Amino acid sequence: MSAFDAASLASAAVHGLAPYVPGKPVAELARELGLDDIVKLASNENASGPSPRAIAAMQAALPDAWIYPDGSGHDLKRSLSRRLGVDPARLTLGNGSNDVLVLLAEAFLAPGTEAVYSQYCFAVYPIAVRATGAHGVEIPALARTHAMPLGHDLSAMLAAITPRTRLVFVANPNNPTGTWASADELRRFVAAVPRHTLVIVDEAYFEYAVASGCQNAIEWLDAYPHLVVVRTFSKAYGLAGLRAGFAVSHAGVADMLNRVRQPFNMNLLALAAAEAALEDDEHLRRSVDLAVRERQVLERGLGAMGVRTIPSAGNFVLAEFGARAGDIDRALLQQGIIVRPVANYGLPNHLRITVGLPPQNARLLEVLRHLLASTPGAQS
Ligand SMILES: *Cc1c(COP(=O)(O)O)cnc(C)c1O
Repeated sequence: MSAFDAASLASAAVHGLAPYVPGKPVAELARELGLDDIVKLASNENASGPSPRAIAAMQAALPDAWIYPDGSGHDLKRSLSRRLGVDPARLTLGNGSNDVLVLLAEAFLAPGTEAVYSQYCFAVYPIAVRATGAHGVEIPALARTHAMPLGHDLSAMLAAITPRTRLVFVANPNNPTGTWASADELRRFVAAVPRHTLVIVDEAYFEYAVASGCQNAIEWLDAYPHLVVVRTFSKAYGLAGLRAGFAVSHAGVADMLNRVRQPFNMNLLALAAAEAALEDDEHLRRSVDLAVRERQVLERGLGAMGVRTIPSAGNFVLAEFGARAGDIDRALLQQGIIVRPVANYGLPNHLRITVGLPPQNARLLEVLRHLLASTPGAQS
């Protein structure tokens, strides 16, 4: 009798995938080390938390949890439509923007087609693409010495588009690098991409990135029918645990996405919270301002220790620690600080650090200062 081998039963495309590696949960480190004072700066969550209005909306919706959510997301779409100035027919809601990215891959890719993305791009893109059996084409990132080190090389990405390319992914700003494209450069790129290829501009960090001059690509949708802008409630809106995101696109693209979308992909609490969160401009502004200011505190603090950081327009920084990045990550864990190792992104010398609240950032910098002093050469 032969052993049961699930992998041999899976599609060849799935067989070849490696699972996404999330940030280490606080509860897991607490169990491992018996610590109770843990800071997680590993998943780009908004340390300020959600709007109190979002919490109240969820509490009000709780007794209705036995009812299926509104599968059309009517009320949230109406709010988004007003806020963004787009027709509701252009919106596709998702169980997090990750869901929307997967819907794009399911609807537009198949074996024999291609999708283009950058080296050091968000890890979900290659997984979503390759699960469909399509070919993922990874374009080398800009050099470490470039003005936007490790950023997307949009010219090279454009040149890689073939008649078989259906999707090209641009995270603006990108995660895990924090890098972004100028509005001019991005517009030239979108305009030049042939219309048989959808340009997915992932604006997961848009609210933080405005301060760095990042373009709101939603403004370009009327001019470019092949443009798809993806946003999330997980980052600046502080609702990562709920899973809420959306795409804004040509209505024809939204129609295709809705054909593969699960009918109730956004849950009742997420719908209620997202709609309420959109109304709290003050909370959004305060938490974004704090994160942008504190990112500069981290950048300056790291710089003062001789640690190079990649320019970031997000609520995180990618810091270069050289060959000891792994040791520093482990030492930080011992001190109850969780950051994100990015070796799985091909960046074994870097750690990605999410901006926390001021005392958390101060604690991180203090611990790092001690670690680097006791492990000389760590930054080289
Ligand atoms: C965090 C992130 C997302 C959002 O993921 P959700 O599924 O909405 O939580 C999307 N794209 C990038 C680049 C991200 O960093």
